[in-house]
Amino acid sequence: MHDGPHGAHTDVWMAIARHSPLGILCDLDGTLVPFASSPEEARPDADAIKLVTDLASLPGIIVAIVSGRPKDWLESFFPGDQVFLVAEHGAYRRGAGAWQNVADLDPAPLASLAAELDALVARHPGALLERKSTTVALHYRNVRRGQRGELLIETFAIIDRFLARHPAYERLEGVLVAEVRPASVKKSSAVPWMREKAGPGARLIAIGDDVTDEHMFQACGPQDESIVVRSAESRRTAARWELESSDEVRAVLRYFHNVRTGQTPLPIILPRQITRSSAPSSAQERTLLVVSNRLPDFRPVEGDEGERKKNVGGLVSALEPALRARGGMWFGWSGRTVAESEPIESGIAESGIAQFAWVDYKESWYRGYYSGFCNGTLWPLFHSFPSRVTFSDDSWAAYQEVHEHLAEYASNLVGPRAMLWVHDYHLLLFAKAMRQRGHTGPMGHFLHIPFPSLDMFSMIPWASQILEALLDFDLLGFHTPQHVANFLACASAMLPAKVADDVIHHRGHSTHVAAMPIGILPDSFQETPEPAVVEEVEGLMRSLGNSKLVLGVDRLDYTKGIPERLIAFGKLLDKFPEWRGKVSLVQVSVPSRADVPLYAEQRATIESIVGRINGELGEAAWVPIRYLYRSYGKSQLTQLYRAASVGYVTPLRDGMNLVAKEYVAAQDAENPGVLMLSQFAGAAVEMRDAVLTNPYHADGMARDLDRSLRMGLDERKTRHAKLLASVQRSNAVTWAEGFLDALGACAKG
Ligand code: UDP
Repeated sequence: MHDGPHGAHTDVWMAIARHSPLGILCDLDGTLVPFASSPEEARPDADAIKLVTDLASLPGIIVAIVSGRPKDWLESFFPGDQVFLVAEHGAYRRGAGAWQNVADLDPAPLASLAAELDALVARHPGALLERKSTTVALHYRNVRRGQRGELLIETFAIIDRFLARHPAYERLEGVLVAEVRPASVKKSSAVPWMREKAGPGARLIAIGDDVTDEHMFQACGPQDESIVVRSAESRRTAARWELESSDEVRAVLRYFHNVRTGQTPLPIILPRQITRSSAPSSAQERTLLVVSNRLPDFRPVEGDEGERKKNVGGLVSALEPALRARGGMWFGWSGRTVAESEPIESGIAESGIAQFAWVDYKESWYRGYYSGFCNGTLWPLFHSFPSRVTFSDDSWAAYQEVHEHLAEYASNLVGPRAMLWVHDYHLLLFAKAMRQRGHTGPMGHFLHIPFPSLDMFSMIPWASQILEALLDFDLLGFHTPQHVANFLACASAMLPAKVADDVIHHRGHSTHVAAMPIGILPDSFQETPEPAVVEEVEGLMRSLGNSKLVLGVDRLDYTKGIPERLIAFGKLLDKFPEWRGKVSLVQVSVPSRADVPLYAEQRATIESIVGRINGELGEAAWVPIRYLYRSYGKSQLTQLYRAASVGYVTPLRDGMNLVAKEYVAAQDAENPGVLMLSQFAGAAVEMRDAVLTNPYHADGMARDLDRSLRMGLDERKTRHAKLLASVQRSNAVTWAEGFLDALGACAKG
């Protein structure tokens, strides 16, 4: 045996081509016919029809087209009975005789699903619903990339609800298509049928490109061959051979025809054998790893048999479609600490969204790394609060040690060429630690907090080591152009690096930098609430009497400027006493890092200001400030946002501030409230139509509050419409897709 062109095994294929009886099972879309922009446009041309029909007419060989398409459609191209047909993934099949209906199903449930998906498709330009007798398929290849995520989230929600009620069905995700079909109907059923049709001693060849074709590949026996058609993307496959395009598939079919008719079989294009590593591990097949300090949405829950706790954070909603589409994994801290003497536990959890890999931290890491370097050094310094920064050699050592440990773990989760998307200030050294372990794949980092000015950054004793490590990433994403400029200034000043526009060249490696503001899923803030939620929020509103609501919502953090905000509200009541009894501030402060002394102090400060203002100005029937030290769920927050006349979002410094965007998304467009936003929040860059304010200037804030409370309906509507357009345009999904696209482009460039 010797290798022919492209490493093909010519002798093997010559023997297969000559074998009788031979059965060929060939998928249509993406295999014999290239993908078109819609299923209607993709159809076999005369060349393909002739090729298959000629081959099927030869003695000792049978050919079946095994497709997801409806039977009538297939028959319109292959009307005779030389070519066998398998329609709707195996629900119908036709050999030399009449069609057989293999699956006998009640059509009612699928009809109701189709109606629901139809309504969704109507709202998403480019989306297309394909309805067959046993399946429903939603095609999104014509939906703009940035808009796919939101469509997919809604699609999966509808499908998941359907599947919960109809367990006989299953969801299948193909190439840019999501399909629901009976679980019992699979293309694999075509394999034994063809073996029987071909007769004793048959060898089969299954050719396909899609996940539905994997069932065929898996059903093949040791005497059979399976060929996957794939371009660059490397989906895990059960096939033994691969081809690159439908042109190559046709060339192979032509080769069979020529071999069997004694014609010169050159030039030869033959399937290439898929090489697998000697110990195939799923790590080699994972193409995307997301790494963040905490797993925002799934983590092991003690004593619950591996059950994962679910919450729907913005980051996970943004990443869900990307993780699903790329079969990605998310890796981070379990949220648990173990004593120094105990072993560190780690594990992998499967969820409907992605695979999650988690690892425990040692208690000393929690102290030195998490509370120490992350939250005691980087957090205050990057937010420009130098007086709150502590530097300690021990916490820097812990920061480095945790990176080494996490990188070691991560390098066992993925192969060296996988794409890595690393999040936030907890993991600035991650690319360096991975490169040292031989990782060559693209690595990107997104910083969710501000990147500080050179003055500030250069205070860190290990500043240039951090910069050097960051330049091991291929892409660095920041929220705003100012953060990008700060980073470039630091790199130029502190390293012998060459900075050219948005690329930094350093030690033979290029790092791209970009401003990519994170967004939210705005439509999800317009969802109809449960009656209990409405009642809860109405109860709160009733307790405010007739006064207008000014709303603050933050984690309790010194960067959020809560004391300054309360003082400015007090000033409003001093300077504009006409508001007394007519306006109330509700401040929701979510407990955060409560074990850190600075945060405990902040809480005490806030409570004393609230007490003072309420004591001095409150009346029997009116409390100026309602302070709620607790957290709310998303639907409660949505109702609070909607009820508020002013969204009072005034951090002293913030990377972005999602509350600002959520407030806008939740408003009633016919009677919207006013967003008052700190000029020092990253969100202020995009949200110029908010009432921008300086949180350090109490008198100015009081005036801005007065102006916001007085603003007429027309101006409110105009400002809101512009703000909403920006929140919709640059949303969570465009952000995630944009980052991954840019990272992919860096890797190619
Ligand atoms: N949030 C919440 N419950 C609350 C208060 C806030 O779920 O009671 C959420 C809020 O909806 C937002 C996030 O917490 O998505 C805060 O994000 P932001 O960017 O405003 O600030 P961060 O806390 O990340 O600094």
